[in-house]
Amino acid sequence: MSSIPKIVTLGTAGGPRWWTPLTAESRFGISTAVVVGDRSYLVDVGLGAGRQFTRAGLEMDSLGGVFLTHLHSDHTTDLVNLALFGMFGFTRERTPVPIIGPGNRGMLPPVSPRATGPVEPVSPSLPTPGTADMFRLLMEAHATDLNDRVLDALRPSPLDLFRAQDIEIPEGIGYHPNDNMTPDMAPFTVFEDDRVRVDAILVEHPPIAPAFAYRFTTDEGSVAISGDTAKTANMARLAENVDLLLHEAISFEWVEELYGGSADSTGQASKDHHYKSHTSVAEAADIALEAGARRLAIHHLVPGHLPIEAWRRTAAHAAVDVLIPNDLDVIEFARTASSI
Ligand SMILES: [Zn+2]
Ligand SMILES: [Zn+2]
Repeated sequence: MSSIPKIVTLGTAGGPRWWTPLTAESRFGISTAVVVGDRSYLVDVGLGAGRQFTRAGLEMDSLGGVFLTHLHSDHTTDLVNLALFGMFGFTRERTPVPIIGPGNRGMLPPVSPRATGPVEPVSPSLPTPGTADMFRLLMEAHATDLNDRVLDALRPSPLDLFRAQDIEIPEGIGYHPNDNMTPDMAPFTVFEDDRVRVDAILVEHPPIAPAFAYRFTTDEGSVAISGDTAKTANMARLAENVDLLLHEAISFEWVEELYGGSADSTGQASKDHHYKSHTSVAEAADIALEAGARRLAIHHLVPGHLPIEAWRRTAAHAAVDVLIPNDLDVIEFARTASSI
């Protein structure tokens, strides 16, 4: 068993899109496996995550936890498959796999000032479910299927195989989902077992809140994974002296091309969202430098169909070397790995 800890970039595209043209090389939705010895952990479960996990040679029996950075669909859409298909991959009895992520937002975000009429929320009785509610509702929506498995085939229920739980945000830091979603704070521990300690911090991805980044610390090395975020001091704090920083990146050149000349309110609101909620390659490099991270890789690439050469051209101007992985790349984060 290799003791060198590593990540496998299961999917590296960001955004709720089937980025076209779709080819054999198209990036899958955002999802990263952190592999420590014979244990694996997932950070986000975007489109195709379960299939990519399997393609990477990982097995459900190895799964030690699932960590959701935030509840945008491009980060969660394969959660249902991980439970409904993944339940057949467990070959032995074990404690439930924790699914750890943001809790209920507690209130709706404000309506965009660009709105030209009334806007009705989806699901007014539960408009901002957190991780635990989301998983329960996904399973309830598939009760017809699941009850076949449980009653007729005597399979264990995914509600017993997985345990979804909401992260409690530390009190007294001044957090508010609309008014102060990224207060200056120290990382706090959300999970620990005999292989890893996982710390979280709030990051800046309005209007969604809370949004987290995670840091995995092992005996051999550490990796910080940003989730979706604009450039924020909290991220540098979480990634302090980390062996590998895996940070999101967007092409603002693409944003300008797509929405730059847009006069309608939807286009303008989309453009606003990208600027206040995402990070350029140069900004990710600045964070890595500020944090003293030993290596930087980018993922959650938006747009997902931008050729790798274009990312490389942008990265050439960054303050540090930038790794631009393809799906299923393996990046070691042992302290002995070469540094930037
Ligand atoms: Zn995203
Ligand atoms: Zn997002």
